[in-house]
Amino acid sequence: MGYKSKKEEKAVLSGLGLILRKGDLTCLLGPNGSGKSTLIRTLTSIQKPLKGSVAIDNRPLESYSQKELARKISLVLTDRNAPGNLTGYALVSLGRFPYTSWMGTLSQSDKELIHYAMECTGTLAFANRHIGELSDGERQKIMIARALVQDTEMIFLDEPTAHLDLPNRIEIFHLLQELAHNSDKAILLSTHEMDMALSSADKLWLVTNENTIQSGLPEDLVLNGQLEKAFSRESLEFDYETGGFRRKSGEFKAQVAIKGPEVLKRWTRSALERKGFKVVEEAYLRIDISGSPDAPEWTTNKDNKTYKTIEALLLNI
Ligand code: ADP
Ligand code: MG
Repeated sequence: MGYKSKKEEKAVLSGLGLILRKGDLTCLLGPNGSGKSTLIRTLTSIQKPLKGSVAIDNRPLESYSQKELARKISLVLTDRNAPGNLTGYALVSLGRFPYTSWMGTLSQSDKELIHYAMECTGTLAFANRHIGELSDGERQKIMIARALVQDTEMIFLDEPTAHLDLPNRIEIFHLLQELAHNSDKAILLSTHEMDMALSSADKLWLVTNENTIQSGLPEDLVLNGQLEKAFSRESLEFDYETGGFRRKSGEFKAQVAIKGPEVLKRWTRSALERKGFKVVEEAYLRIDISGSPDAPEWTTNKDNKTYKTIEALLLNI
């Protein structure tokens, strides 16, 4: 799939043999510009594939009428072109259009569904506010509520958490996960946020450097090195323990070993690595963490003194 102009054809992704399953939250993960939006537009019939075809229930996409498709697929985009003069409630209720008459009259059960969707997405509080007066995150949740109201087997979301803060991001991923699992929907969302995709996706569609997509369990794609390859840059290295990238450490000041409870070790390590230390299992320089969890103490064999904060430790090491 890709783009065609009079002069040339530009393929963005190719060699795709992908299956989206009901009951799965599938995350389409790839760097900026790798083709996530193009794929979502191709799968939702907004643009045609350059080659090959897309099918729903073994029927090609082209054979569906607009109305039929609207009952199969809903799409949540991040663009800010939502009509700003509609209220939140009015925009969510537009999701019922494939089911209502041309006058758009809402039945009691339509209204109940709208209420339910707004409750799920935490948007009831701004039901009566105009879309143009909402924050990006609030508007994003309204768009998700609209998709829920459309009541389709498949929901596609293009970077649905792009404008959200961490608690909201976690909430949205959790909501989509529940929808997939409990309502047996096929949900595909695109994101470049690796941590969220790794922890929430039942299936990962990973855009690779070869401009195709590898599909698999997140954990399998971590362990077989595909994830590292897809996001690798000269200056970054993948940390197989935390499942994230970090700056490659070039020169380091000294090696240091940390002993103590796991959580305390983890945050001590983070501070030491930022200061240029390399944390290893055994080293001449040692830090022992003791004390109680709410009053930890750090002792180093450099001066045999005890410090009550990591900040104080760093000043003296
Ligand atoms: P992503 O969503 O992963 O950031 P996109 O699907 O938006 O990536 O873009 C993938 C590639 O397709 C990019 O190289 C982009 O420049 C190109 N592209 C996007 N839209 C068009 C278009 N309308 N015409 C031609 N090329 C496009
Ligand atoms: Mg995009």
